[in-house]
Amino acid sequence: MFVDKVKISVKAGSGGNGAIAFHREKYVAAGGPDGGDGGNGGSIVLRVDDNLSTLMDFRYKRKYTAPNGQDGQGSRCKGKRGQDLVIKVPRGTVVRDAETNAVIQDMSGSEDYVLCKGGRGGWGNQHFATPTRQVPRFAKAGMPGEEHEVVLELKLLADVGLVGFPNVGKSTLLSVTSNAHPKIANYHFTTLYPNLGVIYVDEGVSFVMADIPGIIEGAADGAGLGHDFLRHIDRCRLLVHIVDVSGCEDRDPVEDFEKINEELRQYSPELAARPMIVAANKTDLIPDGSDNLERLRAYVEERGFPFYEISAATTAGTKQLMRVIAGRLAELPPVVYYEADYVKPLAEAGDANELKIEQHEDLWLVSGPWIMKLLNDINFEDYESRMYFDRQLRKSGLFERLETMGIQDGDTVSIYDFEFEYTK
Ligand code: GDP
Ligand code: MG
Repeated sequence: MFVDKVKISVKAGSGGNGAIAFHREKYVAAGGPDGGDGGNGGSIVLRVDDNLSTLMDFRYKRKYTAPNGQDGQGSRCKGKRGQDLVIKVPRGTVVRDAETNAVIQDMSGSEDYVLCKGGRGGWGNQHFATPTRQVPRFAKAGMPGEEHEVVLELKLLADVGLVGFPNVGKSTLLSVTSNAHPKIANYHFTTLYPNLGVIYVDEGVSFVMADIPGIIEGAADGAGLGHDFLRHIDRCRLLVHIVDVSGCEDRDPVEDFEKINEELRQYSPELAARPMIVAANKTDLIPDGSDNLERLRAYVEERGFPFYEISAATTAGTKQLMRVIAGRLAELPPVVYYEADYVKPLAEAGDANELKIEQHEDLWLVSGPWIMKLLNDINFEDYESRMYFDRQLRKSGLFERLETMGIQDGDTVSIYDFEFEYTK
């Protein structure tokens, strides 16, 4: 079975905890704090692999978890970081948020994409020694890794999509004009996987053509295979509609042409309006006296589509058709990339009473689930993001609580790996 849409859940590793330890050496009394930091958790990274052409690998494995960072240890030993988990996807995979369907990333380029960031490791107590605080018996917990439910959807990156009834010769055309070797047989639905071929027309002039499984009547309503596969040509800049004019299956080419167009319209009016070239195939088989070819030509040209005659089997006219396609593509806008429109929902302010506050002289350690989540969502390089953080802290009532507990100007407030000096 061909798999081109899957839902998976991914989770990055959590950061390891910081260590509480003190230097111990023979003959050295009361060594200083030397607890190391926790290692960062591994991230979930998506990478394009051109050896993949389906999302088959995801069919039986739906959960992906990157390893946690290890806890820190004494002697300033930092915990080992969790390795990133690299998930390979075929080029053209669109990643969406499972809940909102918003686009997170279009894996069409060659850059890796960090889907979930690993949690940062917590600080060991080595960071907390000051002249007045020589024996810090505390360290910090690591941050949780991000997690997400996403839908992966394969949308091939092809310039040209071949459409037409089953058995009209789409795969044959692709095989005689490109480097692809699609399966060809004289029965319907031989193509169960979309095939991509690169067609070299001239030096420096080439394009990618996709042969998708046959579209059948009613496919747009989900009656057959076709519907699922139509999404593969969503990105195509140009459609080439292949019509069998041999009449050997007792079909009428004009009717066939219209049925396929109707399927396209039902699936997506936008796709149906895509530029289209029509190629009458199997011209080598036309019986004497048949008017199929001329009827189709008249019908198609009247509607303003360019019309060409080919025989994929003998390759007659195929080279010329490829040149025409390349010429048309040069005038068309490039392949569509899906813009990311996913906005990560930020943690809302929680209740300060849920927070754990520990005082160590002039240092105030604040921790708790919502503040951990809030901190994880904040990008401290971004002003807006910092302001959001500030507003949420104020709303929560954290500062009032600290005041009540006796915090002084100049004390340090420490929230996981974020610290600031307190001023009223
Ligand atoms: P698809 O289902 O549209 O991909 O069709 P195929 O490429 O698999 O072709 C279906 C059958 O038609 C195969 O037996 C081909 O050999 C045959 N065929 C394709 N093109 C031509 C042609 O131009 N002339 C003749 N005589 N047979 C063809
Ligand atoms: Mg085929």
